[in-house]
Amino acid sequence: MDNLNMSELKAIATRCSQYSPIESQFTSSTGENEDNCSKCNHYENSKCTLDLIDEIRSNMQ
Ligand code: SF4
Repeated sequence: MDNLNMSELKAIATRCSQYSPIESQFTSSTGENEDNCSKCNHYENSKCTLDLIDEIRSNMQ
C-alpha cells in the first residue's frame, strides 16, 4: 500500500462507515481533533486492519 498523507487519511476517515475514533481526553482542546484514519481503532502500523483504505480510495477517484 502507498504511504498516505494526512489529507488522504482525513478524506478516507470522513467517508468510512467503520471509522472508530480512539477516545482521548487530550484531543478536544488542541484544534487537531479532525477525523482521520490515524485516530481510528482499526488503524495499526499505518494500515487499516479492516483493509478498507484501498476500497475507499478507489471510490474517491
Ligand atoms: S483505519 Fe480503516 S476503518 Fe478506520 S477510518 Fe480508516 S479506513 Fe476506516
